[in-house]
Amino acid sequence: MACTTNAFFLSLSSKPNAKLSSDFSPNSSDFFVRLNKPAKVSLRSSSYGELNPGRVALSRQSGLRGRICSKATKMMDQSVGEKSSKSPTIVEVDLGNRSYPIYIGSGLLDQHELLQKHVNGKKVLVVTNTTIAPLYLDKVVDALTKGNPNVSVENVILPDGEMYKNMDTLMKVFDKAIESRLDRRCTFVALGGGVIGDMCGFAAASFLRGVNFIQIPTTVMAQVDSSVGGKTGINHPLGKNLIGAFYQPQCVLIDTDTLETLPDRELASGLAEVIKYGLIRDAEFFEWQEKNMEKLIARDPNALAYAIKRSCENKAEVVSLDEKEGGLRATLNLGHTFGHAIETGFGYGQWLHGEAIAAGMVMAVDMSYRLGWIDSSIVKRVNDILLRAKLPTAPPETMTVEMFKSVMSVDKKVADGLLRLILLKGPLGNCVFTGEYDRKALDDTLSAFCKS
Ligand code: NAD
Repeated sequence: MACTTNAFFLSLSSKPNAKLSSDFSPNSSDFFVRLNKPAKVSLRSSSYGELNPGRVALSRQSGLRGRICSKATKMMDQSVGEKSSKSPTIVEVDLGNRSYPIYIGSGLLDQHELLQKHVNGKKVLVVTNTTIAPLYLDKVVDALTKGNPNVSVENVILPDGEMYKNMDTLMKVFDKAIESRLDRRCTFVALGGGVIGDMCGFAAASFLRGVNFIQIPTTVMAQVDSSVGGKTGINHPLGKNLIGAFYQPQCVLIDTDTLETLPDRELASGLAEVIKYGLIRDAEFFEWQEKNMEKLIARDPNALAYAIKRSCENKAEVVSLDEKEGGLRATLNLGHTFGHAIETGFGYGQWLHGEAIAAGMVMAVDMSYRLGWIDSSIVKRVNDILLRAKLPTAPPETMTVEMFKSVMSVDKKVADGLLRLILLKGPLGNCVFTGEYDRKALDDTLSAFCKS
């Protein structure tokens, strides 16, 4: 199939559940989605960009064609960063009978009914770690039990770190669930960052073949990405996230106040995924980030809340269109094939996930440029914004070409022995997921970033 300048075109329909019109087939290494109709525009600007009610589409005329901005709905008019007990902003993940809300706002853990209405059964298991438990476990237990005496809450406190995202740690969750005699009507609650969310979700997917599950993400990484969309799992010594399941939560509750205790390095790590959304599908969001990066780093609550909301809208929309990663969803992995190689090759936990992804995005962008698919201004803008976000723009010096190739060969996006990558193509905000690229460009990129 020929490639056009804008590689991604989403089918827009006036119906709430726009169906994907795609030329993708499992045997094709490229993924393209066509635009059937011109998109309608409904944008209102504010100091934090668009605050759009309901479904909004960016226009062809705006130069951002083919981007449905959101299936997400801003239900209430509270600023998501405002400290108050007003109603949260709600972004819907539209998956038919597995749809769920993402609640975003300050002080949401004090709004007990939000959580309680998603608890199934009378027994809850909170899965958290040694760092987060002293900070938020009591608050979450209160949120689950206040005025709700019928519910009993157990907890399991796991060791903290990516290096513990494995089968041994997962078994501790099952041990606790079985010892506590939890039955199929119980609810697992993930309280923590992406590591806890991924492990708790996988435990919920497999315990008694599936129990209810709620995400309470407490890092930027988890609030903008990992808690949404139902990808759960653990690492294998030979590759990241190789064992897991798609399993959607009942709700995602993002209390933005939890970010107050997050270390600076972790905050920056999460921003890598925020930048990713701009690069792959939302140029206007990227431009907003270019104007507001210092505010994000300084934890301006309104800027952070806007970045979380807009990221969730992007993720919710992609997941709604392609839950099980037939094609479109893979684009959320820009830089991840290189990044996972860094995490696995360099050692789990040595670099934070977002740091590895940042370096991986630079490598993917470099390769896109070598292929002649983007112009040099995009390469510069990506480097600049990552540096301003205090993220790395090259892999660790100890990474070799061989290390990259060995880990990349077992990447989940390898199909029939062909490594498919997410690469930028065309103007800012456009990308392709493809196995059709000149292998020399990949070799040249690896050589350019590795000493040997
Ligand atoms: P993480 O879960 O390791 O959390 C980072 C650190 O911050 C940990 O030490 C944690 O204990 C601590 N922490 C968490 N919340 C805190 C808070 N509020 N205050 C103080 N400390 C806090 O790392 P992460 O960056 O959140 O997530 C990375 C993981 O997410 C990786 O394993 C990655 O593979 C996964 N991930 C999954 C998806 C998905 O779609 N499922 C998407 C992106 C990333």
